[in-house]
Amino acid sequence: MRYPRHVTLELTARCNFRCPYCYCIWHEYPDLAKPELDTDGWNAVIDKCAADGVRDLLFTGGEALLRKDLFAIIDHARHTLPDATLSLFTNASRLTEQLIKAFKRRRVRLATSLQGLRTYGAMTGTRRSYKRLLTILSRAAELKWPIAVSLTVTKANLHEAVDMFAAAVLSGAVTIQVGPVIAGGRARASQEWMVTRQEWEDVKERIRALPDGRVPYSFCDEFICECRRDTPPELLAKWGDPNHTPCPAGKSFGVIGPNGLYRTCLHSLPA
Ligand code: SF4
Repeated sequence: MRYPRHVTLELTARCNFRCPYCYCIWHEYPDLAKPELDTDGWNAVIDKCAADGVRDLLFTGGEALLRKDLFAIIDHARHTLPDATLSLFTNASRLTEQLIKAFKRRRVRLATSLQGLRTYGAMTGTRRSYKRLLTILSRAAELKWPIAVSLTVTKANLHEAVDMFAAAVLSGAVTIQVGPVIAGGRARASQEWMVTRQEWEDVKERIRALPDGRVPYSFCDEFICECRRDTPPELLAKWGDPNHTPCPAGKSFGVIGPNGLYRTCLHSLPA
């Protein structure tokens, strides 16, 4: 098959966080993470991306910074796809000023998530504080390589979701994407983390009412991946969007999992 123009590479299923709502599909289907491709395997995937005319590669995980060969893979991608947009999504726990500079030299855009403020530890399943992440966001902005930020709204951080948005703006995020936790991955077994549609609409309203921080932002309204063929009808009835329009998964973008298998989106299963 021919890859679409935008491809996400899930370089590893390993992660040093334990987010209880983590969307990664291998929490439901562990075999989709095994065996993990080695450096040569990912370089071969990148060669196919180049042959298929891919224009946009996003490296993610798990936590991609846990891979010791990350820069070897990225350098191969930059060499093979000199004009493509390359991006890295990281939880930023290992991101340093030196690494930000290294990514900037290679023209690799950076994205991360701010999972909470007072709830950061509970949201990441760690004992970490949000403060280091905000410091990294600020430093990246000072280095003229600002980071895109995603916010996932859950029952736990609902009360501070608007503060999280403001913190991302004030820390120098280049763009912000906000969405509710999706009924997939770990959250499929723990739906108590999911907010209601009304709670989500309230968060959107309160963010829109903030003073203009001059940071572009967008909302993702999906509560469940409507393409997944294994979704029980009762789950779709509960979390599906009655106004859902067909999404472009598999047409304009696709995902290669840790074992090299292609899927149409982060939340879907292989064909
Ligand atoms: S959501 Fe991201 S940071 Fe959290 S456990 Fe999953 S891969 Fe790790």
